[in-house]
Amino acid sequence: MSIQNAENIAQQVAKIAWDGKFPVNPEKIVRTLNALRQRDGGTPLIELVGASTADLNGASGMAEWVEQGAAQYKCSFNNQESLARQRFTQAHELGHVMLKHVDQKTPRMRDDRFDNDTPIETDANAFAAELLMPRRWMPELFARAESLTALAETLGVSITALHYRLKNLRIA
Ligand SMILES: [Zn+2]
Repeated sequence: MSIQNAENIAQQVAKIAWDGKFPVNPEKIVRTLNALRQRDGGTPLIELVGASTADLNGASGMAEWVEQGAAQYKCSFNNQESLARQRFTQAHELGHVMLKHVDQKTPRMRDDRFDNDTPIETDANAFAAELLMPRRWMPELFARAESLTALAETLGVSITALHYRLKNLRIA
């Protein structure tokens, strides 16, 4: 897996499940992915649930492969953090599932921080960044935005996440 690959998979997910609106809503994307699976007679793919800091033992999020449950995977996000952070966590955990980081052998990924300290975390972050701040749309959104703060608000991300993304895309 590579960052390029993670971005490609995020683009495929957006193509089938994003409604084209900003800010990108990972909860809505998960609902659409589940509906598509159920339409084809399958079980829901992901159960995406908000959880407290205490429930998550201080983590920001978690992605789990579920042996038996309503859905094949469970993604949790800390709903006591900022909305921008929650959105990024949702996209990051969705990334762990779509990039096949969790399965029977590795049933759980726990996220305390989102440091790029392992290739797996780097890939999940690249997936999340592409899903929330699509490469294809960023130049235009940046050109139209009155300020970085306004653009971060449009995208529903933190200034820090936006700053990294613009730097990676060599836009600013
Ligand atoms: Zn992670």
